[in-house]
Amino acid sequence: KRKLDVSSGAPAPGPAHDADSGVQVVVRIRPPGRVDEEDAGEDGRGPETCVRKTAVNSVAVQGQDFTFDAVADAVSTQEDVFNLVGLPLVENCLSGFNSSIFAYGQTGSGKTYTMWGPLSALSEDSVSNERGLTPRVFEQLFARINEEQVKHADKELNYNCVCSFLEIYNEQITDLLDPLQKNLQIREDVRTACVYVESLTKESVFNMKDVTQLLVKGLANRRTAATSANADSSRSHCVFTCVIKSESKNPEDGSSCTRSSRINLVDLAGSERQKLTNAAGDRLKEAGNINRSLSQLGNLINILAEISQSGKQRHHVPYRDSKLTFLLQESLGGNAKLAMICTVSPSQSCKSETLSTLRFAQRAKAIKNNAIVNEEKVEDVNALRKQIRQLKDELHRMK
Ligand code: ADP
Ligand code: MG
Repeated sequence: KRKLDVSSGAPAPGPAHDADSGVQVVVRIRPPGRVDEEDAGEDGRGPETCVRKTAVNSVAVQGQDFTFDAVADAVSTQEDVFNLVGLPLVENCLSGFNSSIFAYGQTGSGKTYTMWGPLSALSEDSVSNERGLTPRVFEQLFARINEEQVKHADKELNYNCVCSFLEIYNEQITDLLDPLQKNLQIREDVRTACVYVESLTKESVFNMKDVTQLLVKGLANRRTAATSANADSSRSHCVFTCVIKSESKNPEDGSSCTRSSRINLVDLAGSERQKLTNAAGDRLKEAGNINRSLSQLGNLINILAEISQSGKQRHHVPYRDSKLTFLLQESLGGNAKLAMICTVSPSQSCKSETLSTLRFAQRAKAIKNNAIVNEEKVEDVNALRKQIRQLKDELHRMK
């Protein structure tokens, strides 16, 4: 009895999985700054540092060693961090993988500096070495899109990039591109299981000027909103999202291929334990809520690390227990590549927070995501008809 041989045709391959979907964890040690002057040793010795880079991928605190994918320290530049985390992100995206970068760490450790850079470095006409990951990611993205279009000049290859920018503060979502839109709701598209924020502003971007304008506007709104509400921007989570769609058409056989991927660039709220002693009323509520989003992130990291290590599935993973984890659930153990930059201060006075950040980073390292290429191919109908005919013939011969 013969087996039906389907390999002779060209079976449509399933979505490409990523063999290595571990979370990339990079620790960045901020250079000692003025805030650390209290740490300056006696007799004019330099500031004492509580954390030391001991190898390309490890640090030591109090004789305790921690190993990650890479460590950036005081001499590492914004470009170094981009090469470590940003370059692979852009390539992943162009291949159709959803990709996220989270910056986690206590207030003042360099999350905002890492993700966007100083506002002054975002000006359109001067190219500052201090510009952060996000502007560099988009420079690279536009450069690569150009390259791809030149390389595949025989096909019609079109890209479409749509961005949004939001803040989660006190468990409320504000549109940073239109801050009058407050308390927006997270919805789920039942058909695609896609999570989105209702009525959030979406802007198409075609070049660096467009991206820079959105960043400057959004970051300024983040600051204004915090100041006017007498709120503290270190307690807000800030998410810049870009959905990239590409469509390539082969004019010769009429086949086409569409890919889509989502980039999330996330500047998290300060991870320091909230001091509740002086908190009252709104402040108390706020501190509690921030704890909800961040502690829920911590919970999920623990659960997902456990799942990855034990290989056992859990029926219920509590993504919906906070806005942050609901919105970014795909990045956490789901269909996305994830890089986590954990920023720490070298200050002696920050030692216990630095230790707590490194422990968080270590748990994050254990998580496995399940990233797949988001691709849809429309094969030439004639090729499919031919394949059906071949299979029918084969079936006929077997009878
Ligand atoms: P966070 O967002 O974690 O609260 P910031 O990014 O605002 O911290 O950093 C605090 C201060 O330290 C800022 O003035 C920032 O410019 C500076 N800073 C942080 N990281 C670096 C770095 N790697 N190199 C130079 N300055 C830095
Ligand atoms: Mg910040």
